Amino acid sequence: MSKYSDYDFETVTAQCDNCGREYEIYGTTDYKEANAELRIDGWINTWRDGTFLDFCSKECRDAYFKERHSDTRS
Ligand SMILES: [Zn+2]
Repeated sequence: MSKYSDYDFETVTAQCDNCGREYEIYGTTDYKEANAELRIDGWINTWRDGTFLDFCSKECRDAYFKERHSDTRS
């Protein structure tokens, strides 16, 4: 899981599944709202193999799938 809500402070923290960079979204605990805000800032949300993944950039997404999924899909 690359995203978690803090209900006391009304924030969602997303973490890049490739480089570990974190991004905090304030004023919401809703993942859909958080994703919309992340995308505005250039983040990428991907549903893959039953897991929701977050990446801070297209480069991180490409690097992640190159490392872990290069043998399963073309
Ligand atoms: Zn990253």
